[in-house]
Formats: sequence, structure tokens, C-alpha cells
Amino acid sequence: MSHDSKNPITVCFISFHELALKGRNRSVFEKRLRDNLEACLKASDIATGQVKRIAGSLTVVVHDPEKAGECAHLLAQVPGVTAVAIAYKIDRDWEHICEVALKACREAAPAQGAYTFKVESRRSATDYPKNSMDISREVGAYVLAATIDEGASVRMKNPDVLISIKIVGGSTYISTLKIKGIGGLPSGSSGKTVSLLSSGIDSPVASFRMIKRGSVVLGLHFSGRPQTGSESEHLVLEIGQVLARTGGLARIYVVPFGDIQREIASIVEPSLRVIMYRRLMLVIAEKLARSQKAKALITGESLGQVASQTLDNIVATNEAVSMPILRPLIGTDKEEIINEARHIGSFDISIQDADDCCTLFMPRNPETHAQPKQVAASWELLDIEEMCDRALASIEVHDFSTRFGAHKMLSQQASDTPGSL
Ligand code: ATP
Ligand code: MG
Repeated sequence: MSHDSKNPITVCFISFHELALKGRNRSVFEKRLRDNLEACLKASDIATGQVKRIAGSLTVVVHDPEKAGECAHLLAQVPGVTAVAIAYKIDRDWEHICEVALKACREAAPAQGAYTFKVESRRSATDYPKNSMDISREVGAYVLAATIDEGASVRMKNPDVLISIKIVGGSTYISTLKIKGIGGLPSGSSGKTVSLLSSGIDSPVASFRMIKRGSVVLGLHFSGRPQTGSESEHLVLEIGQVLARTGGLARIYVVPFGDIQREIASIVEPSLRVIMYRRLMLVIAEKLARSQKAKALITGESLGQVASQTLDNIVATNEAVSMPILRPLIGTDKEEIINEARHIGSFDISIQDADDCCTLFMPRNPETHAQPKQVAASWELLDIEEMCDRALASIEVHDFSTRFGAHKMLSQQASDTPGSL
């Protein structure tokens, strides 16, 4: 395919900051990001070329220019990506550069009225005869001469249209549109975790934060089934679809927990029930995590948000397990969590009504400051090992690994998988 000014090739230009800081690890992180981007594109129906490394960035050719926007938005959701620019790729012919810069400016300009623009350039090819300053100034003058009658003017600070020109090797990339990426680290660079995932607002956000930091997350949901219906499970699986877009969610396990809760409710005094449910959930999660070679648990707890999340109660549940419990929302206000849930796309799912195990056998006055002695005494009354084994034997698995990133980590499993896995 020729790539002069008449037939520019459309590419996505992918930037990643944090990876660049990783010193000797950089190439490993970069390869992982590239693999994840490739897999993300493969799972979509957008026809593209291969993801290639060009002068410290990654680029991919989008065969159908109409799909460039969709492609850029998709790639911007991949952890590790800080920005995606949609660019025209052409040769280094000076006339072509000016013409395509003008075309890109007109396409990005508002449909009506005056507007401002600026040209910024970077020349990685040192054999190019003009330096960056000259390129910006001369292209700027060319574009201005052609657009001044259309109401355009040059502005250095906050222009309406920013024309970015990069000359790399034998090619020039010209873009005006840049989409912010989610940032963070590529999936798979921070190990595997098990996230206790309810259909509420908080735990999907907590999971997202850990996915963004490069962890491959296995979701674990406790359903109230058979004492309740399976509504919460449907919602959790819908949330799973949203989280899977990042490539960092590998699968969701569902444990029918209703009968075990009923037994706990019949043995333990009402005020301590919730703490016992939570402790048992953590014990089951830890056992699952060990069998899947996951190294930590995640919850959506936020200090003091509800009765079960006072410091005393967090201590009382925490000590049931020895594995680290990551609580990415512990210092985050509900309002911030809601905003983040909206941004991720899980909020509208989470606010739908569903009975889950949290609403089952709830005491009227749950303990807010659990005393270690009382907790230990109630815990003693339960056959934890038997309950744990029973829960793991009835566990159900929903895979999200067909997408990308996570599927590699999923295959690195231990053989001593519990129950029916
Ligand atoms: P969320 O909005 O995440 O449900 P919440 O504010 O309702 O949180 P709690 O009900 O106290 O708070 O739950 C605290 C944490 O315990 C949750 O964030 C989640 O990590 C875990 N959890 C609660 N219920 C379940 C469940 N049914 N299945 C799996 N994990 C759960
Ligand atoms: Mg909840």
C-alpha cells in the first residue's frame, strides 16, 4: 500500500509512561503489553496489522480508517496504556507532510466558527534536514495560510486543535486526536490474586484497581443459593464482562453459600453471624487462592463504611487467614468509589436489586466492635474444615480467559485444584 498524502495509512500510536521507568525490566514489561494489545485486537472484529515498536512507542495499522476511533478506545482500556493517538502515517516528503497536517487540522476543527491550532513536532530521525522547531514553524505557517479565511489562528496555550508530527525512520506520523488510557501496568506483571466479588458497588472497583496495577484477578462470589435465587450471580457475571475488557480478569468462581449460612445462623449468636460469614468466606478464598497459585486476596472494604467494616471487625475477620488481604478502597470515600464505578461501567449493574448472601439471615443488630474472645468462642463452634471443603466441592467456574492477558496466567495452575475444578 502506498502511503503518500493521497493515501495515508491510519495507525494507532500507543504511549506508555510507567513502563519506561522500569529500567532493565522494561523489555519484559513492554513485550507483555504488546502481547496483551495483540490479544485484545484479535478478540475484537477490527482488522489491523501487528503491534510494532517504533521509537519508544507502540503502533498498529488500522486497515479500515472508519474503525480507528473504536480501535483507539479499545486499546486505551488495556492496563499499561497511558494514551492512544490516531495518526496518519505517510512518507517524509515535505509537501506531503504539509498537506496531511492541513487535512488533519481541518478534520479536527469545529464544524463552524473560529478556532485556534498549534503544531508540535518531534524528529527521531536525525538524518532529516529540518529540526523540530523548523518543522513546527513551517507547517504552522502552511496550515495558517490555508485556513486563515476559515477563521483559524495560531495559539500556543490550550489550542482547540493540536497537530502533532513525529518523524521516525522513513515515516511521518501526524495526529490531532489523543485518547487518555487507563495507565497502570500490563496484566500479568504483578501476579495472581483472588478478589471477593459481590454484586455491590465496591468490590468491582477494588478489583479494577488491582487489575490496573497489573494483577490477574480471579473473582470469587458467594451466592445465597439455594436459600435465595441466582440474581446476584447474573449481576456478578455481567460485572465480569465489564472487567474482562481490560484483559485482567481470568475467571469468576461462584460458591452456593446459602445452606452453610443457614447452619452458621443456627449455631452462632445473631450479632456475630456476619463476622462468621466473612471469616469463612476469607478461609475459602485463601484455600482457593493457594490451589490457584494466587498470592493475595482482595476485598472492597472501606474503613467505617458499614458496620462490618469498623477497625475492630476488620481485625476480627482478618485474623482468620494468613494470606495478605489487599483493600485498595480502604481510604476511599463512597462518593469517589461511585464515580470510579461509573467510569468503569459497573455502577449501573451494581445498583440493580439482588438478594445475595449478605442479605441472608442478617441480624437486626450486627456487632460493630467484635471482641476477640467472643469471636474465637463462636468460631470454635463451627466445623470450618468441613464447611470449607463442602463449599469448594460445589464451586462453579465461569471463564473469561478467551480474551487476553489473563489466559496465560490461568494456565499456570497448581494440579491440586480443589473440588470439581
Ligand atoms: P460491596 O459493594 O463490594 O458489596 P459493601 O459495601 O456491600 O461492599 P460488605 O457487604 O461489608 O460491603 O462487603 C465487604 C467486602 O466483602 C466486599 O467488598 C467484598 O469484597 C466482600 N463480599 C461481601 N459479600 C460478598 C459476596 N457475596 N461474595 C463475595 N465477596 C463478598
Ligand atoms: Mg455488599
